[in-house]
Amino acid sequence: MSGSSLYLDGVSVVFDGFRALNNLSLIIEPGELRAIIGPNGAGKTTMMDIVTGKTRPTTGVVRFGEHDLTRMDEAAIANLGIGRKFQKPTVFDALTVFENLELALKAPRDPWSCLRWVLGAQSRRRIEGVMEEIGLAERARDRAAILSHGQRQWLEIGMLLMQEPQLLLVDEPVAGMTDQETEHTAALLRRIAGQRSVVVVEHDLEFVRALGEKVTVLCEGTVLSEGSIDHVQNDPRVIEVYLGR
Ligand code: ADP
Repeated sequence: MSGSSLYLDGVSVVFDGFRALNNLSLIIEPGELRAIIGPNGAGKTTMMDIVTGKTRPTTGVVRFGEHDLTRMDEAAIANLGIGRKFQKPTVFDALTVFENLELALKAPRDPWSCLRWVLGAQSRRRIEGVMEEIGLAERARDRAAILSHGQRQWLEIGMLLMQEPQLLLVDEPVAGMTDQETEHTAALLRRIAGQRSVVVVEHDLEFVRALGEKVTVLCEGTVLSEGSIDHVQNDPRVIEVYLGR
């Protein structure tokens, strides 16, 4: 597919002398679904912070296609089509599923535009398309407050999709979900990757297996192992990090 690759090249982040990222290099291809795993403190959150501009690398370069993100601010990076979903859902409880998605829509709202009615119909179709994608079409008129934890997470993913991201960073999406919700989330992420790249940080290895794509294991701020879930789970260095300490 067309789209931009994400490159991290020799990225280090030093906090008060402590290296949260240590010469990390990584490429995410357009349309890829990549899981990032690793023990606590491995640098997963810092990596996401670097990509979204929340934290600046001490050394190294971050690029998204032609764009050098290294010195860009968060708003400029978001405008390039890089979206992030934090662990805790931030949907609007008092609004319906449809209204939450409508709020997230980046559409011209100029009341004088003669195209307004056309855009209105287009927007509605886009919202309906996203509701189908996230599996909440039947819940369009329900307030977010009455959705299950899993459904709220999917709604927030839908809100991000309304912004038409090229790259979506998703932080521990299945924490606290039932097995069924976890399965639905894996299928959802598999479906939405392809049209954009999706990077998922997750602890749940069964969920990572269900994603069925390339896995990167971070440890001490750098890549310890990379490949299929079977490959990394059988890598002696990964076994040592997870079990040997
Ligand atoms: P993970 O998400 O893999 O658990 P983090 O990226 O949160 O790891 O953290 C990596 C390391 O960097 C941890 O040891 C953490 O304590 C440290 N760290 C993260 N943010 C800061 C900060 N703002 N100041 C100092 N140390 C930090």
